[in-house]
Amino acid sequence: MRRADASAQDDVRRANLSAVLRLLHFDGPATRSELVASTGFNRSTVGSLTSELVKLGLVRERPGVVSGKGRPSNVVEPVSTSAHVLAFDVTASSVGAARVGLGGYLLQVRRRLHSTPPHDVPGVVNLIATLAREMQARATPGSLCLGLVVSVPGSVRQPDGLVRRSPPVGWYDVPLADLLREAVGDEYPITIGNDGDLGVVAEYLRGAARGSQDVLYVRGEVGVGGGVVVGGELLKGSGGYAGEVGHLLVKPGGRVCSCGARGCWEAEIGDAAIIRAVGRDPREAEIEDVVSDVAIGNRRAIAGVRKTGEWVGLGLASLVNLFNPQVVVLGGTLGALYPTMEPTLAQSYARTLGPNREQAHVLRSDLGSDAQLLGAAEVGFADVLEDPAGTLEARREQPDPSAEERGEVHRIHRHGG
Ligand SMILES: [Zn+2]
Repeated sequence: MRRADASAQDDVRRANLSAVLRLLHFDGPATRSELVASTGFNRSTVGSLTSELVKLGLVRERPGVVSGKGRPSNVVEPVSTSAHVLAFDVTASSVGAARVGLGGYLLQVRRRLHSTPPHDVPGVVNLIATLAREMQARATPGSLCLGLVVSVPGSVRQPDGLVRRSPPVGWYDVPLADLLREAVGDEYPITIGNDGDLGVVAEYLRGAARGSQDVLYVRGEVGVGGGVVVGGELLKGSGGYAGEVGHLLVKPGGRVCSCGARGCWEAEIGDAAIIRAVGRDPREAEIEDVVSDVAIGNRRAIAGVRKTGEWVGLGLASLVNLFNPQVVVLGGTLGALYPTMEPTLAQSYARTLGPNREQAHVLRSDLGSDAQLLGAAEVGFADVLEDPAGTLEARREQPDPSAEERGEVHRIHRHGG
């Protein structure tokens, strides 16, 4: 065989392995017959690809249930303890952490309040490093750690993971990836992502937006972040900072925002604005107080949240005009309070869009506070899903991948390409 033919055949083999592993990773266990149906490969190709993935340790087969005539089709499933990602979610109040196994299984989840103020960078780096070591110690022996990925509520430069600005935690030009590498070593790749980007990736792949190719995600917390998937691709922008929806101007001359400008959307729908809208002082009350007041039917809290819903709907209408998504997913506080603000949100959304516009469905996040962790995990899984055999070989031989080889946040394809 000529070398070019052999290499073309390798490419096909790699793409086919990738297709089967992606299906199992995103859709869960499947029989060989189901794999034949969803990949379009013939039975013997699926058999040989499955055997190779079994040999790599990434999937396993168990006998299926007999239904009707004929032999039972084996069930193929991802081995969640074969490879994992350490995922983190830094917010203004806490650090979430998860060990996520192949298949998107949350094998271990932790959330710790900041032990020092969030702007104390060494304190946060220490907390992440401690949690990473604890989770690694609990991992199944032999499970390959594919990466440590951190979600941050702010602008993150790629590929070096410098946090340009994150007002909710008070970070400006913080080389987070470098600091973490010093703290935990370079046994696995370290990647930093924006919380809105990771949130939209998770909702698109595993949450409320599954099946839609055009998705807008908005996470309301102390800050308001967002992410946009257009035609199945994460919208990045020239510097990787696209989707900073919190600083959309909605009220000229309005309240001063964390970014220094006036009248931003965040200043009307962020946690502090919601606390003020229910008649409490953001320096004294916490957003959890508002959520529980609403849950017990406190009228003042409900009225304030509904008022905020008007601002949410107004901003969403502008974003829907810009991006024309099929669905809008609300996460964070906005997801938690969505059922209460829904009537006023829907009214102002429809009014601002106008009668003849295509409306995108507004949904509440399925994944809640796990969205950033699951999105971060997908960044870590990207390489092994793209090239299962090659990635395992490279990672088992070279524990120190270069920056260029690291998984980047924009690679989110469900089915390759
Ligand atoms: Zn702003």
